[in-house]
Amino acid sequence: PSSLLSSVYPPALHYTRPDHAPLSTLPRANATFVVLCRNSDLAGIMSSVQQMEDRFNKRYGYPWVFLNDEPFTEEFKTRLSTLTDAHVSFGTIPKEHWVQPDWIDEERAAQQRKSMSTDMLHFIPYAGSVSYRNMCRFNSGFFFQHELLQPYRYYWRVEPDVRYFCDLDYDPFAFMESNGKTYGFTVALEEYRWTILSLWDTVKEFMKESPHLLPDNNLMSFISDDWGNTYNYCHFWSNFEIADMDFWRGEAYTKFFNFLDQKGGFYYERWGDAPVHSIAASLFLRKDEIHFFGDIGYRHDPFQMCPQGDVWTRGRCSCNPKETMDVGVKSCMAKYTKANLTDAE
Ligand code: GDP
Ligand code: MN
Repeated sequence: PSSLLSSVYPPALHYTRPDHAPLSTLPRANATFVVLCRNSDLAGIMSSVQQMEDRFNKRYGYPWVFLNDEPFTEEFKTRLSTLTDAHVSFGTIPKEHWVQPDWIDEERAAQQRKSMSTDMLHFIPYAGSVSYRNMCRFNSGFFFQHELLQPYRYYWRVEPDVRYFCDLDYDPFAFMESNGKTYGFTVALEEYRWTILSLWDTVKEFMKESPHLLPDNNLMSFISDDWGNTYNYCHFWSNFEIADMDFWRGEAYTKFFNFLDQKGGFYYERWGDAPVHSIAASLFLRKDEIHFFGDIGYRHDPFQMCPQGDVWTRGRCSCNPKETMDVGVKSCMAKYTKANLTDAE
């Protein structure tokens, strides 16, 4: 039997992977991939990482940072590290960045979770989940404070089970840096309004207190159809983000997040990091600091953005160009385009 086995498994070559050696001589931006996931997300995140490596990162070698509210298993670490030659690190999130703070009235929060999850009139995803709320609050206000992300300025957020459809023949981080971009997205659509019933009133209260934090040529007309009176529920889909953490770490966003946080809406409602990030980017950035990556074909169920025309051909994209989120009732791309053409006022 041993000879049979050795014919099936030929002896390993004496090959040693260079330890964290730079893969590329191309100048790299100060950037990393960031993944928040659970040990149980192993298969899904391996699929996403493999595509990212094949379509882009094997030529660039940007590092990967994996974060989890529980320690990653040895199996998780070994199997993820095997997928790339780039530097990979695994971090546990400190409790105070993750769990529901004790100043939240748990009785009120529990009551709200119950009434949201038994709401027969509106479908509210994750209505009864505490861990989902922890995740949304962490992605809104804490991931960029994690120790493992301190060395970096730009990040690209990656989630389990997403698709990267196209080859990317340039470095989007370097693009962000040399073009003065702060926030990049691929899909813009409407949020479920029943998850954020009091969010816009809270935002208005903040704007009244700190009007100096809003530049004139911001993207207010992307998120409001009436000059800020009401929210139109448009947001960037934050499961894909290429952005500058200095923005989240800066004065405007720090004040904004703390203001939202103390209102308790991450737990009494179910405020998502997508509307929170999107509203902040639309209010506190100039519109030219926000970038639509129309060349990075991407899918997170149930929506996708598929590049069109030459970009699709050149990127050898595997998506159907007729299936793309630029159009359709829930899409906010028309509003985004219009907001970029017109003046903020
Ligand atoms: P959806 O995209 O809104 O349906 O939410 P997901 O379930 O994909 O969660 C968003 C991201 O947070 C994904 O990267 C998940 O792996 C991660 N995530 C969600 N809940 C938890 C959790 O309780 N613990 C950890 N470590 N990651 C989580
Ligand atoms: Mn997801």
